[in-house]
Amino acid sequence: MKRWHMVFDVDKCIGCYTCMLACKDEHVGNEWLPYTDRQQKRDQKWLVMEKRERGTVPRVDLAYRPALCNHCAEAPCAKNAPGCVVKREDGIVLLDPRKAKGNRALVDACPFGAISWNEDVGAAQKCTFCAHLLDGGWKEPRCVQACPLRALRMVYMEDAEFEKQISGKGYEAIVPEAAGPRVWYKHLHRFTKNMISGEIIYMEDEDTEVVAPNVDVFLKQNGAVVARTVTSTFGEFWFDPVEPDSGDYVVEAEIPGRGSVSYALTMGADTVDVGILCPGKEAVPSHFAWDPITDPLTE
Ligand code: SF4
Ligand code: SF4
Ligand code: SF4
Repeated sequence: MKRWHMVFDVDKCIGCYTCMLACKDEHVGNEWLPYTDRQQKRDQKWLVMEKRERGTVPRVDLAYRPALCNHCAEAPCAKNAPGCVVKREDGIVLLDPRKAKGNRALVDACPFGAISWNEDVGAAQKCTFCAHLLDGGWKEPRCVQACPLRALRMVYMEDAEFEKQISGKGYEAIVPEAAGPRVWYKHLHRFTKNMISGEIIYMEDEDTEVVAPNVDVFLKQNGAVVARTVTSTFGEFWFDPVEPDSGDYVVEAEIPGRGSVSYALTMGADTVDVGILCPGKEAVPSHFAWDPITDPLTE
């Protein structure tokens, strides 16, 4: 039996919010009964864009991901609200619009926050995987069809085949796998892990700083190399992913003919930028110094 699955790649998403707007366009003002009543125009979303910022200027990583109903195979909402949830053969999970009307308690039936309350129609609602479109022959829901980067994709295949297809490719779910989610994410480490970044320079003479490109940089823990990277054209480096709260590390690099740098740090809850490393000098934090007096926009 073939079933619907959604996949999303964090690395492809530019955070344009077109998917969220497409969901609004499809469902605000449109009753797709018996699938679902219309979506509330404001203050209710069935697809919520989440954002995470890592790093320190100028080395910042900005990642986005859509959060929506996972159309769980073992749907906790169906167990928490018996009789209110329809689990279709093709994997789509729907709320029965008649049972959802006036049933505010249904919002709490989803432990993942995917069900919300529509004040306008007085009903609990959630993403339907655009079942009204798929049943009409569409190959993908509106949000997927609207994504200009193809970061969102829809797949219709047997569960075993889907598992085989995503196996070993780094896909993860954002809800516990025991729930049997049908929405899977790639490159999720940009939401769940930290990074260690920095820049390496050297002094060409007493006054001239030069960035150090193509330098091997090593990340060590307890004396052992745990990761290796190479500086960019601008002398910058990133170790990503690094497990949050994973203890003490040392960043080391040897700039051929110019000396070496070493920096000890502790990885806590947040990403670490070690700043600018230069042989023979103290590390310098690399925040942009913003001087409002010389800001051309204020002159
Ligand atoms: S994400 Fe929540 S609402 Fe959607 S199927 Fe799973 S438990 Fe039900
Ligand atoms: S699948 Fe349809 S209902 Fe669900 S978030 Fe996308 S557009 Fe909205
Ligand atoms: S439409 Fe695609 S690229 Fe734009 S925010 Fe949504 S998933 Fe990301």
